[in-house]
Amino acid sequence: MAELSTRKSSVTIIGAGLAGLSAGCALADAGYKVTLLERRPYVGGRASSYQHPGTNEIVDNCQHVLLGCCTNLLDLYDRFGAREKINWYDRLTFIEPGGRQSVIHPSPFFPAPFHAAPSFLAAKSLSFADKQVIASVMLKLMRGLPPDTSEDFLSWLKRHGQTERAIERFWKVVLVSALNEDLDRTSVHYAAQVFRESFLKSAAAGKMGVPTVPLTELYSAGVDYITARGGQVHLRCSADSIDPQLNSVTIKAGDRTFTSDYAILAAPYNVLGKLLPDTSEAAPLRADLAKFESSPITGIHLWFDREITDLPHAVLLDRTIQWMFQKSKLQNRHQNGAQGSGAEDSNARSSYIELVVSSSKSIVESSKQEIIDLALKELAEFFPAVCEAKLLKSAVIKEVFATYSALPLSDAYRPPAQTAWPRIFLAGDWTRTGWPATMEGAVRSGYIAAEALTAADNNREYFLQPDLPAEGLMSIYNK
Ligand SMILES: Cc1cc2nc3c(=O)[nH]c(=O)nc-3n(C[C@H](O)[C@H](O)[C@H](O)COP(=O)(O)OP(=O)(O)OC[C@H]3O[C@@H](n4cnc5c(N)ncnc54)[C@H](O)[C@@H]3O)c2cc1C
Repeated sequence: MAELSTRKSSVTIIGAGLAGLSAGCALADAGYKVTLLERRPYVGGRASSYQHPGTNEIVDNCQHVLLGCCTNLLDLYDRFGAREKINWYDRLTFIEPGGRQSVIHPSPFFPAPFHAAPSFLAAKSLSFADKQVIASVMLKLMRGLPPDTSEDFLSWLKRHGQTERAIERFWKVVLVSALNEDLDRTSVHYAAQVFRESFLKSAAAGKMGVPTVPLTELYSAGVDYITARGGQVHLRCSADSIDPQLNSVTIKAGDRTFTSDYAILAAPYNVLGKLLPDTSEAAPLRADLAKFESSPITGIHLWFDREITDLPHAVLLDRTIQWMFQKSKLQNRHQNGAQGSGAEDSNARSSYIELVVSSSKSIVESSKQEIIDLALKELAEFFPAVCEAKLLKSAVIKEVFATYSALPLSDAYRPPAQTAWPRIFLAGDWTRTGWPATMEGAVRSGYIAAEALTAADNNREYFLQPDLPAEGLMSIYNK
């Protein structure tokens, strides 16, 4: 009996993205015997980096940013010491074609939700009339989140008197990046949540975090965390099938077999269907998986022989390209302009820029050269130094299934962690977390699945972190 009660339960997790890593770290820390299977040779999933074959550079699959309100992601960083690898920025520079800049930043003299009001009122990219209608909607969102209905956010904004420019230069700019979907395909509830959580709650909630190291370097510490607690991480190990039994779960991966007490499936929704058992119990989940739609993101990586701007990052208005990240500054990567060896050398002015196009449906079919030509033409409208600079090398990374689309009423088919099989749980940014598809959403899903597993194991543990407290006047309205 004593032997039974001290025996640690085992869990096999499929997928070492942030959902699988966070579940694995939480359960390993709680004493579970964790086996994590990842089909790629590196961890991080859709937030990862690798050596790009065309340029020989270590590149992120795409620039990833987080916000101060990402409490669960920050908790994961704290577990394996990654928080110190994040730099924080509280100033966002919006640039119009032609170069005029508006900077939005918090003021220490105004309480939330008015902390950014002085810089917002001074912004040149919006007229007074635009600001008035934006403020009227913000005051409405202050009081709470509108319910999710069949209405999309674009029609909701128009119904609430938003001007074309307010939509283009404010709502669209923030939301297309945050939710990776066009406004006419976005749930009102999730759109409103982005503004309430990041813009209104507090200045701390809205500050932007940017990793100072490539993404896989950031997340590889999660592997060490799991193995230091007796777990195993198998890379290049692609699960093929799952067989739930009465007291265990067996997962086949090529010629290897993993049998454990529990399993967490943390693979994306568009590959999960192939892994599920071919039984009637799987039918409702399969039907839900078929309802998801996804939206692409395109990252355009440019190496110049000189710096084209002093800014570490900027929001680019009115064009196809939406964000500029100066990776050589953000990651302190001084490029050797001639060879791109990554070493700091005589050519210290060279730079590495990444441009991001979210919901990039309009360019995802274009060739690499077409995308580079468009990007250079547009970039020169914001930073004239591009015209003088020499492009040394470039890469275009298209993530066609970047994130699921937070369509109106999409929560109806986002499944919970629990499945038809008592020993199998789901995790992933697409599961029912209450958050859109983000790194924070993925970590929440991992913690939710890990909590559900411990409850099923009669050993209830709590991993989810509380939200950041609302400050100032927002604390009155925060439910
Ligand atoms: C281009 C791009 C830009 C983004 N920008 C941001 C951003 O700035 N901020 C932000 O918060 N979020 C951003 N996101 C979203 C964020 O990356 C995702 O929400 C999050 O990483 C999803 O994590 P996940 O663990 O749910 O899924 P994934 O990362 O997809 O992890 C699933 C893992 O399962 C593995 N797998 C699949 N099948 C198998 C199998 N059969 N056997 C074993 N392993 C398997 C995959 O290889 C993968 O590693 C971005 C996403 C993309 C694509």
